[in-house]
Amino acid sequence: MSWSLEEAMKRTGMLKKGHFLLSSGRHSNQYLQCALLLQYPSDAAETGRQLAKLFQDEAIDVVVGPALGGVIIAHEVARALNVRCLFTERKDGKMQLRRGFSIKPNERVLIIEDVVTTGGSVREVIDVLNAMQAKIIGIGSIFNRSGKTKLFGDIPYRALETIEIESYLPEECPLCKQGIPAVKPGSRTS
Ligand code: ZN
Repeated sequence: MSWSLEEAMKRTGMLKKGHFLLSSGRHSNQYLQCALLLQYPSDAAETGRQLAKLFQDEAIDVVVGPALGGVIIAHEVARALNVRCLFTERKDGKMQLRRGFSIKPNERVLIIEDVVTTGGSVREVIDVLNAMQAKIIGIGSIFNRSGKTKLFGDIPYRALETIEIESYLPEECPLCKQGIPAVKPGSRTS
């Protein structure tokens, strides 16, 4: 049987069901935990290969992902494209390229993230790359949860899977009304 993201999502249990407090302050009955998918190197590699295919004709020189979420998948996309992979990270709250990583002016860069919700981290990476006069060719993510396809102006954005996750204002949350305790995703158990 050939590999599919849908099958891997089910098998790894990465789409968690429960009662979650999102960083936006809203509540939800579902949460995407990409770490559960990417913990398996073969699933990470397949996901990276499929994402790389969306950009295979773009003559990419380098893939950049924001830490932490973007690191593993950016690396797998870079492996599939046989180009180098860098990551940005926040230092004192500011997104930066550290560790001796550099990008030459006009290098063709692909930004890769695991999940795009508001696109905030990706926009910070765009700022870092623009300051280095890199050519941003595209943005890719495994999942698009933003509800939008044109999220980054003129820069093409492609995702493997569009996911709609229902969310509620705390005062309107049906799970709160049932008295189910809410948890912050990313904790020890979720
Ligand atoms: Zn709730």
